[in-house]
Amino acid sequence: MLLVIGSYNRDLVLTMAQLPAAGETVAAAGVAQFDGGKGSNQAVQAARCGVRVTMVGALGADGAGQSARALWAAEGIDAYVQDCTAATGQAVIFVDAAGENCIAVVAGANGALASAYVAGAVRDVAPRVVLAQREVPDAAILAGFHAARALGALTMLNAAPAGVVPAALLAATDLLVVNEGEAAALGGDLAALAAGHALGVIVTQGAAGATRIARDGAVRAWPAFAVAVRDTTGAGDAFTGCLAAWLAMGATIDAAMPFALAAGALACTRDGAVPSLHGRAAIAAMAGC
Ligand code: ADP
Repeated sequence: MLLVIGSYNRDLVLTMAQLPAAGETVAAAGVAQFDGGKGSNQAVQAARCGVRVTMVGALGADGAGQSARALWAAEGIDAYVQDCTAATGQAVIFVDAAGENCIAVVAGANGALASAYVAGAVRDVAPRVVLAQREVPDAAILAGFHAARALGALTMLNAAPAGVVPAALLAATDLLVVNEGEAAALGGDLAALAAGHALGVIVTQGAAGATRIARDGAVRAWPAFAVAVRDTTGAGDAFTGCLAAWLAMGATIDAAMPFALAAGALACTRDGAVPSLHGRAAIAAMAGC
């Protein structure tokens, strides 16, 4: 079983010919709303891989919070929801005709997720793997990871979005997953970083695939699967959610990697985040298993 400690955001996407400059008003051609948030996206990908998933997060008493609950119910995800007076997390995304974007995120309820609530959920569920990203408070993740370790569960941190991670959180992480920008934000010395984690570090490299650096410094690289790329949004969430799912089903990291690479590649073939996350059959077929 997999438990995800993470965010849900309602994404409001406005499309326009050109992004506005400071002080400028432009006409948007369209507006649409989508489910988002790294935690929720990764939980959905894991559930579509066929593993039992529990999502632990915080939502406001609003329409966006209802959308999150509806999404998780539709995906068969068990939810531990901390009800908040703050509004549900929201992202406003401007996209121009060339696909360039500009994003502002209000953490809202995500920022209020409480340590005691998370630790209690981990103890109740007793998962095999606990996965988190950095769109909820570090203190809540840390409390969840400590509870996980007390149960003998594996802790996995996707250090996204990029930033400096507190030493105590890194120390409580068995497997770190980052893209190249996030690795740079952590100092870029991958061997030194890997030495701090029982299962090392995995760096995703977009169209170049992914590399694992083990604790002892051993390096293994996997190429990406070749696909017709339409929109790379959600590739990292697909990769991490799928990897966590396979680990929660008992696979080794090396055995799980082809599935994660396939999930990442497949997510590039469709628009958006949640709509681009594929199911177990398509992932296994691409991975060749
Ligand atoms: P993020 O979305 O977090 O920036 P990456 O761009 O590194 O992460 O993508 C995550 C994974 O998705 C990669 O390791 C790779 O397996 C897959 N992927 C991403 N872009 C492509 C691509 N253009 N072609 C094939 N696979 C891709």
